[in-house]
Amino acid sequence: MKKAIGIDLGKTELRAALVDETGRVQAHKKIKTDRANGPEGVTAQLGWLAKEVRASQDVAGVGVCAPGPLNSETGTVLDPPTLPGWKNVELRALLEAQLGMPVMVNNDANAAAYGEWRFGRGRGCRHMVFVMVSTSIGGGVVNDGRLLLGRGGFAAEIGHMCIATDGPTCNCGHCGCWESLASGTALAKFAEEAVREVQSSLMIQLANGGPICAHHVGVAAEQDDPLALALVHEEARYLGIGLVNLLHLYAPEIVVMGGGVSTCLPLMRQVIDEIVGKHAMPCYRSTPVERAELTEPGVLGAAALVLDAAV
Ligand SMILES: [Zn+2]
Repeated sequence: MKKAIGIDLGKTELRAALVDETGRVQAHKKIKTDRANGPEGVTAQLGWLAKEVRASQDVAGVGVCAPGPLNSETGTVLDPPTLPGWKNVELRALLEAQLGMPVMVNNDANAAAYGEWRFGRGRGCRHMVFVMVSTSIGGGVVNDGRLLLGRGGFAAEIGHMCIATDGPTCNCGHCGCWESLASGTALAKFAEEAVREVQSSLMIQLANGGPICAHHVGVAAEQDDPLALALVHEEARYLGIGLVNLLHLYAPEIVVMGGGVSTCLPLMRQVIDEIVGKHAMPCYRSTPVERAELTEPGVLGAAALVLDAAV
């Protein structure tokens, strides 16, 4: 059975797995990202990890998923905000020289979408949109059984769809992006603002003197804290508006939602359905929105992209 190595290049952690074509993980290893020695140091770590999980196995190649923006055609990491100092790093060429085997580099959200499609909640579908709602919003689109890449692999930056031109400033520098209104970071910020107006809320107790995070909002909402519930419903409204756009653009059979905020999906479903029912054209309305299944979709997707390219 064919195997490939998937590696997630994260800001704080590097995770690698040897994955077979059924999605089974045969070896797994993770280490802390040592950013002290810049891209060269991290690339050396990636090469070491690949050799560790490979053992003596015959593998088709290595798939790396890394923070965008990156050019997946050339395997170049451009200048991601989460990896300071990584400007125009030829990651694919560096790793191929180190390992002597084919390397593919994809943006982490696209790789995660592919992983959920091949091995997770989207398997068996031809058309899927993956939405990752965590500290930021990322995602990917599988259309006609293929990952939508676009020029340079830059497609599907869904977090930067403009939802409100007068909205908050986004990490990308523009205003009113979906991410600036509906990410976990945005939910936490709205929660901080909201608790200033009230005497008590379970969210304040859960934060225990620290900042309120999206997780606190979700937990408090599950326990019927009225303010937390209102925040989660507002979150659902913003998510719903973005989903309406995605349904119209890509006509998926399913929307798969991952990330920490997706744990609130049961509490958000009614509002999302209302927004979709109100703003989407009739033939798009019945598209299910389901929670993602995989814990490491990026690693699995990066490996699957190598396996499928080598068919
Ligand atoms: Zn943005």
